[in-house]
Amino acid sequence: MSKIGVHSFVWSAGSSKDELENALSKTYDLGYKLIEFSYLDPKQVDVKWLSGRLKELDLDVAISMGLPSEGDISSSDTSVVNNGRDILDKAVALVRDLGGTKLAGILSSAHGKQEQALTKKAWDTSVSTLSKVADRAKSAGVTLNLEIVNRFESNMLNTASQGLAYIEDTGASNVLLHLDTFHMNIEEADVGLAIRHAADKIGYVHIGESHRGYLGTGNINFAGIFDALVAIDWKDYVTFESFSTTIVDKDLSLKTAIWRNLWDDNVALARHARNFIELGMETAAIKAALVEKAHLAL
Ligand code: MN
Repeated sequence: MSKIGVHSFVWSAGSSKDELENALSKTYDLGYKLIEFSYLDPKQVDVKWLSGRLKELDLDVAISMGLPSEGDISSSDTSVVNNGRDILDKAVALVRDLGGTKLAGILSSAHGKQEQALTKKAWDTSVSTLSKVADRAKSAGVTLNLEIVNRFESNMLNTASQGLAYIEDTGASNVLLHLDTFHMNIEEADVGLAIRHAADKIGYVHIGESHRGYLGTGNINFAGIFDALVAIDWKDYVTFESFSTTIVDKDLSLKTAIWRNLWDDNVALARHARNFIELGMETAAIKAALVEKAHLAL
């Protein structure tokens, strides 16, 4: 059975001690085993305190981010690439210092709608830069999980297959895929088949609905997704990601186009999501076992 995590923006986009403590205790109380923080700025956070609280609550942690345009490691401007490299190195250090192992998100190019198609040169610059970050991340025990996002948020990695090609070019064993059902639902021919195809290289999974609200109330075929996760024997984290205008982050809410108020009560939302994922995975496992047995009543 896989483990279930929750994105901190279900709780708050702030990083004051009170906001972090509230996010940690709600995550713990609702039975989640991992909390993911996005764009956590080590300068604004008491990292030692936070890593201590995570340990006390026995919670795992993941850090996610999207590179800003001024830190795009696929840029033709060397200073922009170097800035992106530094941002990634700092994020790797933060993951390590918090006691985590996963850096996730849009790590290979800038997060946001691009006005131009990707070039071979941009791809190569990104691959060679990220390979070096991956080398350093390896000694910190951190994996780089490349989030595959839809066409309106990146012009580089929109499908799991593109991610696999990128990973192969890096030649790094700690560069993996971060798959997200919201994005896959837009770009993949079949989400379940894509999960099966990429199985060996999946490092992290986001589960989100087509409108980013309550799971099961949009148009995503979650049964097929849970079937695929059971088929590949996924034992690692499935992290619930949801956004509403109730929680606003100045960067992410704009880049991910969160214009609607899909929920106010985040406790009810998170409780529902955990039950939904647990029951979905359990049902898929029962189905898998059913089809393997003849059940002859002889
Ligand atoms: Mn995501």
